[in-house]
Amino acid sequence: MDLFEYQGKELLRKFEIPVPEGRVATTPDEAAEAAKGLGGRVVVKAQVQIGGRGKAGGIKLAESPEEAREAADKIIGMTISNEQDPKGQLVKRVLVERAGDIREEYYVSFAIDRSARKFVGIMSAQGGMSIEEVAEKDPTAVAKVHVDPLLGFSDYHARKLVYGAKLDPEARKEAIAILPKLYRAFVELDASLVEVNPLVLMGEGRVVALDAKVSLDDSAAYRHPNFDELKSVHEVPEQERFAKERGLNFIKLDGDVGIIGNGAGLVMSTLDVVKAAGGEPANFLDVGGGAGAELLSSALEVITSNAEVKSVLVNIFGGITRCDLVAEGIIDALGRLDVQVPIVVRLDGTNAEQGRKMLADAPHPKLIPADTMLGAAEKAVALAHGKEG
Ligand code: GDP
Ligand code: MN
Repeated sequence: MDLFEYQGKELLRKFEIPVPEGRVATTPDEAAEAAKGLGGRVVVKAQVQIGGRGKAGGIKLAESPEEAREAADKIIGMTISNEQDPKGQLVKRVLVERAGDIREEYYVSFAIDRSARKFVGIMSAQGGMSIEEVAEKDPTAVAKVHVDPLLGFSDYHARKLVYGAKLDPEARKEAIAILPKLYRAFVELDASLVEVNPLVLMGEGRVVALDAKVSLDDSAAYRHPNFDELKSVHEVPEQERFAKERGLNFIKLDGDVGIIGNGAGLVMSTLDVVKAAGGEPANFLDVGGGAGAELLSSALEVITSNAEVKSVLVNIFGGITRCDLVAEGIIDALGRLDVQVPIVVRLDGTNAEQGRKMLADAPHPKLIPADTMLGAAEKAVALAHGKEG
């Protein structure tokens, strides 16, 4: 789960990392009220899980509560997009923060380096822009340390980052003090990323986290009693919520070929085969081992609720899962749902012949049997592209 900036900052504050004082507002009036409470100059920031808000006009300075109201009026209701997320996100809240006098902007983050099997800390004196851009233009401007999770973060790591990144001498001491706290936050929150961009050196010599991008690992939710509360303000798309309610292991993707399979490995290979056939999968959906008629029917319902889906590929290898029950689920779903897209079905393994016969005996204009996995994928892709399978 990617947190909103204000949520990330609330968590960082608990780890004694300095962040500006601020309040969340959902209306221009609340923003004016917040600005009044903070006094003086404030900055009004769009709360979306998307970078580049500054460039998109989602961050505005305000000299008075009246200006904060105007800024919030412009920002709330905006849709902010970037290259990674061209559809963008609607702004529903703003963070109103006391504005400071920024002298320098730095970058710092902790993340997981899976290939090194270690945590990685990254720091740069060139903050406020994307770290990928900095690394490309001037790799020497980026300092990096690997941290062994068992040994932890030491003073040595902090110095290596701060001196390696060539932070201004006035910022060194405070930055060295902040780094172990940030590392602790990263580890104790079970985060996959804690990124502060920019970390700033203020006029009066203080070092403060001006932005916060915190991603929490959903698999560790059970260890964090506040996880659900943090999640409650995030909008879970209808399709995902429905899938979760039905106990389906579902992940939405951006393509147009819906996928149903049993077993994560088979589903992954099905995605690969669809790609190899020139198509784009619309989702990952694993009905698991021993899936019966009801689960299959729910799976088809979830997938066909996405208007982007132009064809569906059901790829089942029966083991504990019985192909006759899968066929029953498909027939049941076709009877209940108004399915508009073709469904290509490949059944193999336990009771496959029985399942195939059941499908053949209950002909449906949208049902297309296939013998092999590759053949099924090719058909599904051709149908998604508007060609006959
Ligand atoms: P992002 O563009 O979505 O990453 O949003 P950031 O929170 O990183 O803000 C982008 C830029 O806006 C920063 O690099 C700063 O230059 C500026 N900015 C953000 N907060 C403040 C603030 O409190 N005071 C001032 N003067 N500028 C700010
Ligand atoms: Mn930022």
